[in-house]
Amino acid sequence: MALIVHKYGGTSLGSIDRIKAVAERVHAARKTGDNIVVVVSAMSGETDRLLGLANELSEVPAPREIDVLLSTGEQVTIALLSIALKERGCDAISYTGGQVRILTDNAHNKARILDISGQHIKSNLAAGKVVVVAGFQGVDEEGNITTLGRGGSDTTAVALAAALKADECRIFTDVDGVYTADPRLVSRARRLDTITYEEMLELSSLGSKVLQIRSVEFAQKYRVKLRVLSSFEEGPGTLITEEDESMEEAIISGIAHNKDEAKLTIVGVPDKPGIAHSILGPIADANVEVDMIVQNVGADNLTDLTFTVHRNDYDKALAILKATCENMGAREVTGDISIVKISVVGIGMRSHAGVASKMFNALAKEGINIIMISTSEIKISVVVHEKYLELGVRTLHSEFGLEQES
Ligand code: ASP
Ligand code: MG
Repeated sequence: MALIVHKYGGTSLGSIDRIKAVAERVHAARKTGDNIVVVVSAMSGETDRLLGLANELSEVPAPREIDVLLSTGEQVTIALLSIALKERGCDAISYTGGQVRILTDNAHNKARILDISGQHIKSNLAAGKVVVVAGFQGVDEEGNITTLGRGGSDTTAVALAAALKADECRIFTDVDGVYTADPRLVSRARRLDTITYEEMLELSSLGSKVLQIRSVEFAQKYRVKLRVLSSFEEGPGTLITEEDESMEEAIISGIAHNKDEAKLTIVGVPDKPGIAHSILGPIADANVEVDMIVQNVGADNLTDLTFTVHRNDYDKALAILKATCENMGAREVTGDISIVKISVVGIGMRSHAGVASKMFNALAKEGINIIMISTSEIKISVVVHEKYLELGVRTLHSEFGLEQES
């Protein structure tokens, strides 16, 4: 008898009919004899709706009260799903994060899980019940309700799977797995049967928003087998796990893209120790996250520095950089929001040379100019003009042989 954690997102629970469908799926899984713990999100749109209400009352609502408010979304779905399960003859019991005792730190709105006491859950499973737990929430030591950050139900599911030593954590969502590229851009993108934690982390941080990044980090740390699959259709989904010999032999697993970045350049900076810090320090102090950074080899004691930030932070970063430019006596500041980042990701890169040159050559043949390049052990990213997004992703997808056989 296996112990399986299921997680259903907001779209899968977006209406009474969908909740019934989830109940049916959970009941069917239970009937195979497995023990089932279900983690749920709020109904789709509910978290945003609640946030909107708070914002009608205050521009800066207290984080503690936001957590009290937002946690109600998941409290609704645990109860409704449990009711639906019992109605079908599947014994079930619902718990809020605080009741299960998902203990977190007290960082409201972005709390981290410290400990989970699985006692309640284990005794209910032993009594044959399906246990339905509210995702995204916990309590701090004083009993204050906390939430884990948007998309946090994925993390609750993985954390519960780790604490209960579950055999697998299944994330049911509106896509049927992890793809070699965004199927909306590449019609011949292929669902991957397996992918490693490392690759998944790169793909999620590069803009393939299938899973909350923290949940994958958690899964990797505690070696939780994580599977992404559709709540609307049957299928094996994609298993995210440790690297092993039986995995697909591909050098590249997928092509990711990110449309949310903008780039900034400061030109004619005096080339001396400490300049990177003087330029990027104030950006970091303003809580703006920097992604790629490129500094040019200096000439005539002057150098240039280019970096990318989230588009939402572009105006803020530009203003800061302009001030820095004046203070430092640098020549000028330029910026561009019409860029995209395209990345090839694969652990096979470690043992195969030539991925970068193959990538650059393929882009060159299509006349796509590369503006920036960055690499890690298992990925190569390029920044290009946004008009090349589709062409670039499709070109690389076929160049690396990722297409579905038709
Ligand atoms: N309901 C929360 C959100 O919308 C948590 C989640 O869905 O995972 O972000
Ligand atoms: Mg989600």
